[in-house]
Amino acid sequence: AQTIGVFQFEGQGMRDALDNVAHDLRTPLTRAKAVVETALQSNLSQRGLREALMDIAEENERIRTTLNTLMDISEAETGTMHLEMERLDVAGIIQESADVYEYLAQEGGVSLEVAADQGLYAMADRGRVRQVLANLLDNALKYSRPGGRVRVAGRLANAMVCVTVSDEGEGIPAEDMPRIFERLYRGDKSRSHRGLGLGLSLVRAVLKAHGGEIRVESEVGRGSAFTFSLPAA
Ligand code: ADP
Repeated sequence: AQTIGVFQFEGQGMRDALDNVAHDLRTPLTRAKAVVETALQSNLSQRGLREALMDIAEENERIRTTLNTLMDISEAETGTMHLEMERLDVAGIIQESADVYEYLAQEGGVSLEVAADQGLYAMADRGRVRQVLANLLDNALKYSRPGGRVRVAGRLANAMVCVTVSDEGEGIPAEDMPRIFERLYRGDKSRSHRGLGLGLSLVRAVLKAHGGEIRVESEVGRGSAFTFSLPAA
């Protein structure tokens, strides 16, 4: 295995991964460069300049998010991620996260359902659990089809709080299943969707840092269900 910065991959896998990250950093950089060049060549009004600056700020933000995610994964995996642990109302967090994604769901013609037991408490970092739910919900909606349903369900099992995010979308081919939690891995068909292939690696690393885990069940054409667990409080 070769190590380059936070990546650890072998042969073709590493090349693909680096191609992906290079592409995802180069695209916003190239766009920002084009905006700067155009702005410098033309005689822009105050308003035009303002718009150019806003475009550049947006591209910068994209680059910052990508790099932050890579750093987060690295920290979570090496056990150096700082976690603000508290007794967390998981049903409440699930509802909040679903509310944030309600608009996106409606836009895609997908119904979003929540079913969480009340009195469900975990020891966890609020921001990180939000991030886990956001990533899983984002994927569930991204890979859903109009008319489909996405469901988030929380329950207590063996002193662990278990949360399942399920969808009726395209499903995951068996050959992809072992690799979807790898950094920068993206399913072939996912190339048509926006994404960096970092979401699930971050999710898994964050859960591991909490003493939890994540599993997936999926069937092509029928949908996927991701279940994660956190220590109950
Ligand atoms: P991204 O979504 O940015 O490609 P992720 O790390 O979140 O990256 O997911 C990795 C891969 O797992 C995706 O490219 C896709 O192939 C697959 N995947 C994740 N969630 C789902 C889902 N809910 N339905 C179908 N495929 C999924």
